[in-house]
Amino acid sequence: MRKMLLPVLAALVMTACKKEMVSDLSLRQAEIASSAAAKGAEKIAIWHVDATTNTWKQMTINANAWPDHQAHGDIWKVGQEYKGGKIGYILQAGDPGYDAKLPHGLIAAAEDLLNPYYLDPDPQPFFTWAPDVNGIGGFFGVGEAARGTAIGTGLSNTNAIVQYLPDVVNTINTTFPWLDLKLDRYAAVACRKEFNGYNDWFLPSRDELQKILQNRMSIGGFPDANGPFRISYWSSTEHSWDGDASRAYLCYYDSGTAPGQVVTYNDRSIYEYRARPVRYF
Ligand SMILES: [Zn+2]
Repeated sequence: MRKMLLPVLAALVMTACKKEMVSDLSLRQAEIASSAAAKGAEKIAIWHVDATTNTWKQMTINANAWPDHQAHGDIWKVGQEYKGGKIGYILQAGDPGYDAKLPHGLIAAAEDLLNPYYLDPDPQPFFTWAPDVNGIGGFFGVGEAARGTAIGTGLSNTNAIVQYLPDVVNTINTTFPWLDLKLDRYAAVACRKEFNGYNDWFLPSRDELQKILQNRMSIGGFPDANGPFRISYWSSTEHSWDGDASRAYLCYYDSGTAPGQVVTYNDRSIYEYRARPVRYF
């Protein structure tokens, strides 16, 4: 008798559940439908490109028309997937290079780079900026060409570093062959590589990096800050202090600084920080 009762009870309970689930589901569907209608009615401001004239204009559209606009290359907001990464910053009035008729800005790679020479035991997202050359012929600095701080200087900084490093690394490897330093263990060289179909990625300048980190929640793919522990990123801006260019600018955040971030500088050959490649659009 007991054996019979259990399946019957179970069946009753299941039927009751099923009924509840069905009505729950139809409620949910109604909810989704009404929120979709609300979404369709929601207006968003986009930059619309006219492919025939290659001109842009800002326009307001219904949110549900966005996929069609996105398909022909329009941009909408920070965090949108675009040309190899995510839109990380859109230039504002007053920024160098700002154009009221044409949106420009920074595309951030979706993830931090991994350093194949920093194993723990798998590659980690940490790089030094340049090797330590103080022991072998004194002091080297990339110089003015890598000291741009502003928006728009990251690519030229990075190119200057990429040009400068091979000689330094060769000199070190000649003096200390057992070190066998590889160029792409340094942040700028690692960033200046082709991926996702684009070959114009670079390590952002100090101000560019700051904008990217300010927008990191919208861009996504940045580690959560845990307590006082800093999440630090290298910029491509060399720091010159009393003629000593052994430092570079970095930007960091911790749980106390979120959602802001702090710009500072540190010894570029000792400290290992993250590197997030960006490109211009
Ligand atoms: Zn459009």
